[in-house]
Amino acid sequence: MCGIVGIVDSGDVSFPLYYALYALQHRGQESAGIATYDGQTLYKYKSQGLVADVFDKEILCGLKGGAGIGHVRYPTTGEKIPENIQPFTFTFRGRKVAVAHNGNLVNIVNLREEYEKRGQIFCTTTDTEVIGNIIADEYRVSLNVVEAVGMCMRRLQGSYSVVMMLDDEVWAFRDPLGIRPLCIGRTECGYMVASESVAIDALGGSFIRDVRPGELVCLKGNGIESHQIAEASHRAHCIFEYVYFARPDSVIDGRLVYDVRRNIGHSLCEEAPVEADLVSPVPDSGMAHAAGYAEESGIRYREALIKNRYMGRTFIMPTQEAREAAVRMKLNPVRGHLKDRSLILIDDSIVRGTTSRRLVNIVRDAGAREVHMRIGSPAIKAPCYLGVDMPTRGELIASDLDNGEVCSSIGATSLHHISIGALIRAIGIPKEDLCTGCLTGEYPLAIGSERCCPREVTCVAKHYQAGLESFSGE
Ligand code: AMP
Repeated sequence: MCGIVGIVDSGDVSFPLYYALYALQHRGQESAGIATYDGQTLYKYKSQGLVADVFDKEILCGLKGGAGIGHVRYPTTGEKIPENIQPFTFTFRGRKVAVAHNGNLVNIVNLREEYEKRGQIFCTTTDTEVIGNIIADEYRVSLNVVEAVGMCMRRLQGSYSVVMMLDDEVWAFRDPLGIRPLCIGRTECGYMVASESVAIDALGGSFIRDVRPGELVCLKGNGIESHQIAEASHRAHCIFEYVYFARPDSVIDGRLVYDVRRNIGHSLCEEAPVEADLVSPVPDSGMAHAAGYAEESGIRYREALIKNRYMGRTFIMPTQEAREAAVRMKLNPVRGHLKDRSLILIDDSIVRGTTSRRLVNIVRDAGAREVHMRIGSPAIKAPCYLGVDMPTRGELIASDLDNGEVCSSIGATSLHHISIGALIRAIGIPKEDLCTGCLTGEYPLAIGSERCCPREVTCVAKHYQAGLESFSGE
């Protein structure tokens, strides 16, 4: 996954970048980094760990300049080595460059091989370095950033939301299918782009709009320069951003994530009503879904599990054993709410089944009589190649077990996943404009031998639709 941010402002941007990354922490906890430019020098600092642990006041004061980009990393490709921490920085033809990327390129092996054959040396194993190299290579030919990014976008296949600092300019672009989110905001004295609108909120800024799929923008002091580089017949926004990954208070492609999750809760109740004493979320990921279910059913909402807020996400644990122990550490039952009660327990998704199995056990041990699991995503049957850390088919519990088998495997009284149709209605974006690869095994672009329903992408790079949008009145 990963979170990215870029800011251009009249004052130093290191603290605003830090606050924005803090707001995007849920998108990646492995490492964090910031690069800035003050008109002469590129400053950078990056390290493994959470944003608050990586940076302190002294470090931020040393990152000078009114232009900068930042990144939080959740590795889906490339090893967890210090070299892979972003932003990736280099100097090219006297220009200082920093690049940060959220997404996953499916043709990365071919691209890397092609550039290595030409004698290119790579210092990392990330997609980001390859993107930086392609842009530099194209810029060498045209000496024009818009053309260089346009040529680069023709080469990239997969999901990519990218921020790039080129001396004191901050550029950002989004893949033609708009798979990963990216939005634009106005700060007090400048402009910013970020993976999610919560980063704009964190700076007291105002949300302007999403970066359009296939669009390249440049943040200027007096507005945003826009270049429509490519256009696709349809988009392929990731459904998992709405179900699980994004913060509920973010607005992505026009939809408030909290409302989508509440709608999912309503639909879960309509599709699989059940009589029970209480509706309870798996915190925090199932909270909005459970609020929706409770609203629709009239059954009282009561928390049955309390989360220890100081633990990382369960998925980060390296082994199955560690993951199982971690679930118990992380969530404790409220016995007084559970004894002899029937419970509707709502989570956003079941991936391997570890969390649900453990939780059903925990609430049953605490006295729950019945545990009806309701899940805010349809059964996850196939891996994600486009940026979500979703394991291989062999590890996905629903890849070869049907609903009844999954229900007995996790020990629930009943189990229902939202249907794909209801999920799409809850999101409110047409089916053809969403990526549902992890649910259907059919992807919006060609990936190895997987089934695919490709979107037609037209490159309009020869006649860029450029324009300066000014937002001084907002
Ligand atoms: P599992 O235990 O493998 O079934 O994982 C399901 C739990 O992990 C749910 O509670 C989700 O909130 C959470 N989850 C789902 N997908 C991911 C992901 N890609 N990364 C981290 N956590 C996830």
